[in-house]
Amino acid sequence: MLKGIGASEGYGIGKVMIVEEKTLEYTPHAVNDIDAEIKRYSDAVEAFIKETKEQAEALRVSAGAKEAEIMEGHIGIINDPGLKMSIEGLITGGTCAEAATEQTLDMFIGIFAATEDEMTQQRAADLKDIKHALLSILLGINEVKISEAPAGTVLVAKEVTPSMTAGINKENIVGIITETGSQTSHSAILARAMEIPAVLSVPNALSQLSSGEQVIVDGTNGEVVTAPSADDITDYTARRDAFLREKRELEMFRGRRTLSASGEEYELCCNIGSPKDAGKAIQADGEGVGLFRTEFLFMDRTSLPTEDEQFEAYKAAATILKGKPLIIRTLDIGGDKEIPYLGLEKEENPFMGFRAIRYCLKNREMFKSQIKAILRASAFGDVRIMFPLITAVEELREGKALVEEAKDYLRASGIEFNENIPVGVMTETAASGVIADLLAKEADFFSIGTNDLTGYTMACDRGNSDVSYLYSPFQPSVLRMIKSIIENGVKAGIPVGMCGEAAANPLMIPLLMSFGLTEFSVSAVSVLKVRKNIAKWTKAEADAVAEKVMEMATEKEVVDYLKSIV
Ligand code: PEP
Ligand code: MG
Repeated sequence: MLKGIGASEGYGIGKVMIVEEKTLEYTPHAVNDIDAEIKRYSDAVEAFIKETKEQAEALRVSAGAKEAEIMEGHIGIINDPGLKMSIEGLITGGTCAEAATEQTLDMFIGIFAATEDEMTQQRAADLKDIKHALLSILLGINEVKISEAPAGTVLVAKEVTPSMTAGINKENIVGIITETGSQTSHSAILARAMEIPAVLSVPNALSQLSSGEQVIVDGTNGEVVTAPSADDITDYTARRDAFLREKRELEMFRGRRTLSASGEEYELCCNIGSPKDAGKAIQADGEGVGLFRTEFLFMDRTSLPTEDEQFEAYKAAATILKGKPLIIRTLDIGGDKEIPYLGLEKEENPFMGFRAIRYCLKNREMFKSQIKAILRASAFGDVRIMFPLITAVEELREGKALVEEAKDYLRASGIEFNENIPVGVMTETAASGVIADLLAKEADFFSIGTNDLTGYTMACDRGNSDVSYLYSPFQPSVLRMIKSIIENGVKAGIPVGMCGEAAANPLMIPLLMSFGLTEFSVSAVSVLKVRKNIAKWTKAEADAVAEKVMEMATEKEVVDYLKSIV
């Protein structure tokens, strides 16, 4: 068994085809006829562009428009004036086209590869790909044709470059194994787009595997089974079939409304951490965003993001969502979310301490700049504000007063925003659960954060393994808390969502349907699964389940019962 990174889900059983890049050897030589050499170089560039366009087209069909853009980007790079000037300058100085190309691209590859930034490093991978292709053209070398791989092929390569991927026939390639790459590398993105199981970063894959040998690629768990036994084949065939069956079933829920079996409609949104994730939410068929965790904008940097920077990020998400709801949660730092440059003091009890709304209300200028940024973004979509870690009505009132101050400022400055922007409460503390009736009178919506609500209700730190047995949203105390929050919201006529992990739990879904939850907000990968799970239950069935569960005295009883019926 070889271990790597599971970068594209699924299981593939097939025979290895090793794809090694040919070493492109040549002897650098001095050039006399400069014009002829420059022409040889421009002819090679022309051939490269033609080839790349064809590959981009192939990729558009097999993987999608975004993936084709990666290849089209290569044309932009080769046409870059700086690059062209450097290569032609070297040729004019008497260097042959091969050496001029290699020297120039190696210089840029060195610069890009030395950065810490993954995106810039990815540019280095693009340049390597371009260098290889250009040198192959200049030297007249033909590569192994991946497009001719037979059915049941597992591609094994150092890395899968976009140009290689363009040759992939999805019907024939059942798995991909590489020696390099991460979840976010091109190899991973392309494998996922083509829905081919992939395991990346398998050390020495090329020397450990040989062409023609049978392997199993387990992209779900990041494993490669070598020399599989008959039992392995049977086992993985069953897993693959179940995986594909579930995927097909889930796909049937794409583009559909989120309805119970008896016709009640729910809203099914996504949790996101960046504007880019908003695109993923849409791709995943989310109906909006129920939680935008804004702390990611504040992390991995050395000073606070400005109001404008934040505005751009929130506006970008709102624009991508095209009028679908976008609930932006104000800064939720402290506890397990540290931001070094804020200089927060170490606390005895950080989860009970100076964090989230408590910190923001004491750092009003910072808070107001975030609120203004959110308000400004509200001119570009259905943007809503949500405060985290509310424990008392005063906190909600103070937060709302700041929203009004920020509105006054924007109004006076003639900046557009939604005057009626909804302001909601993230109910994730025991206190907010107990006073849900009072909060519901002053909040425009609730969203239940079960990740924290469970911990705060059970007085239990989930990072502590000695007490983790208590950390379950199926504890009767937590279930009562959830039920009471939803019922109080419903009584006050405000929508109640859930953005904690429990919203995607198939065991929890019938209970939430029965309690009257109106919105589920889950990670993008769970959208179709949750829609399918909601469709399984009629409201009457969900009510019967909930009634039984709410009489149970222990978490174990609850979970055992739910597992027996779900
Ligand atoms: C929660 O507490 O349930 C929640 C969704 O917020 P976070 O996980 O960001 O604390
Ligand atoms: Mg929380």
